[in-house]
Amino acid sequence: MSFQSLWVWELEEVRERLNWYYRVANNEQPAKFLICRRVRAEFGSESSDEELWREHRRCSEEFRGLQRELREGGLRLRDLEEVSPSLMDLKVEIVRRMLRSCTFCRWRCRVDRVSGGKLGTCMLARTSKVSSYFHHLGEELPIRGTTGSGTVFFTSCNMRCGFCQNGDISKDKDNGLDITPELLAKMMWELRVEGCHNVNLVGGEPTVHLHTIVEAISMLGKVVPEKEDLAYMWLMKPDYLRWRRLPRERYSIDGEFNVPILWNSNMYMTPETLELLRELVDIWLPDFKFGNDKCSIRLARTPWYWETVTANHRTIYEWGEDMVIRHLVMPNHVECCTRPVLSWIAENMPGTLVNVMDQYHPDCFADPASPDFDPRLSDIARYPTPHEIAEAYRIARELSIPFEAISLEKKGLVLKF
Ligand code: SF4
Repeated sequence: MSFQSLWVWELEEVRERLNWYYRVANNEQPAKFLICRRVRAEFGSESSDEELWREHRRCSEEFRGLQRELREGGLRLRDLEEVSPSLMDLKVEIVRRMLRSCTFCRWRCRVDRVSGGKLGTCMLARTSKVSSYFHHLGEELPIRGTTGSGTVFFTSCNMRCGFCQNGDISKDKDNGLDITPELLAKMMWELRVEGCHNVNLVGGEPTVHLHTIVEAISMLGKVVPEKEDLAYMWLMKPDYLRWRRLPRERYSIDGEFNVPILWNSNMYMTPETLELLRELVDIWLPDFKFGNDKCSIRLARTPWYWETVTANHRTIYEWGEDMVIRHLVMPNHVECCTRPVLSWIAENMPGTLVNVMDQYHPDCFADPASPDFDPRLSDIARYPTPHEIAEAYRIARELSIPFEAISLEKKGLVLKF
């Protein structure tokens, strides 16, 4: 079965809301980064930060005009020439400067991650680490498709969820191998030529690696792994079989390497980061966990959660981006978290696809069997009951949130047509 023939694309609510992503995945449209490379930017090393942002806003407008024409079919990628410097180069310059006084995420630590002296909440200096990258076959059906989502797991995080389901890498920033932007671009390339439908950037949290990721995207398709790269890269690749390489037309458009970029994030980022990602991310997979700051502070030591995450979700919705929101149902938190989160989505982002996730398990400091167990997390130290999950689904249904196709397909509970 092919990606295009999956039953999920027959559903109007899915096909319409993920239309850009679908078309990029099938090489009917270029990924946004390819358009970025065709928008001329005027800047130099002497430009002030303010000038760079002003130019970024101007270029973003131009980008949107081109994307509209491409979408409507009045323009093809081959009609546009790559330019230098481009909007892509401008983004690289901006993230490099931001790294010197880091404001990638809401903590706004303003530490100099280039000099690497004092570290911020993510505890990262300049170098990024990847713990693994592979064909992920467990994501939502439109994301995993038939041959998997090309997932890259970065280490470290900017939140401190006591129950983290990826605690081995989010809590341990060193649980991976050093990578450079060039190496990351090669990993992304490899995943796509092996058939992955997208490149899925996750962690931990990708936001704290923004500089590495943006620079890697700027090189994407321009660098390919050599033998010695593969020997190192494959230390991070647990796929037990090296997947076959597809013919070029399966991963290119008008002769250029093409792949949708997926941002799989806790959304605890600054508006500046969001602005930079707007012209790079083809599909968003944002988490929306807590329904109030009391829970986010107690369970994840994260202040300003509600205002930050709602603002970011609202922004990408207003931009008309393709997205699937993930909400993890936690035990004893249906009324204080699930209900307000789903109600807010229904009111502020009507029609957005949501995955109401039932796979919570007590982990890290919430695992009563672990020596690290923190009794202050006793309320989430168990699996959610079937009643709690059913109640979460009932709330979503009552609010007319389109969640069933995305949330229930693995259970075989979706009426397909
Ligand atoms: S990414 Fe966030 S947590 Fe890390 S240094 Fe920057 S602002 Fe601080």
